Amino acid sequence: MPHSSIDLIRDIPDFPTPGIVFKDITPVLADAAAFQSVITDMVAPYVGQGLTHVAGIEARGFILATAVADRLGLGFVPVRKPGKLPAATRSVSYELEYGTDVLELHADAVGPGDRVLVVDDVIATGGTAAAAIQLIEELGATVVGLSVYVELAFLAGASRLNGTPLSALVVYA
Ligand code: AMP
Repeated sequence: MPHSSIDLIRDIPDFPTPGIVFKDITPVLADAAAFQSVITDMVAPYVGQGLTHVAGIEARGFILATAVADRLGLGFVPVRKPGKLPAATRSVSYELEYGTDVLELHADAVGPGDRVLVVDDVIATGGTAAAAIQLIEELGATVVGLSVYVELAFLAGASRLNGTPLSALVVYA
């Protein structure tokens, strides 16, 4: 059964570019009961898993990741676009449909022995999430899973995660 919040997800055609149907989750975030149930259900698989941190991917991932981290009683680490993080960073570049993009993480954000949950709002092709996972693993930490609110399964992003378990509340087949 689809998550009860699914009716609040709004399709915006041709945003940000022609041909993309953008899954706008702002109506979900604005609805107190829906937002609370999304966080409850994203957190559920990870209770008691010995996690140390929740990593969120800029920018919409931050919204969900900080709520998930707070609910699990864990610290939050930001995975950001280039040039935003003030201290020493590690970066990774990854392929987009046209060109490449870069993500950065503070080099001391996580390390060996840490067990990290990565959170984003949407997984599409999986390139962004795969890059975030790579960054965290390069720092010696273990990525326990990737938790997203929405999976666009027709883009097969899960297949790019090198076996990292994926959990999603709403899956568009
Ligand atoms: P990808 O790297 O292709 O998995 O793209 C994932 C990133 O782009 C996520 O951070 C999403 O927030 C965003 N994204 C990609 N496609 C969509 C979409 N159709 N609707 C909303 N966000 C999207």
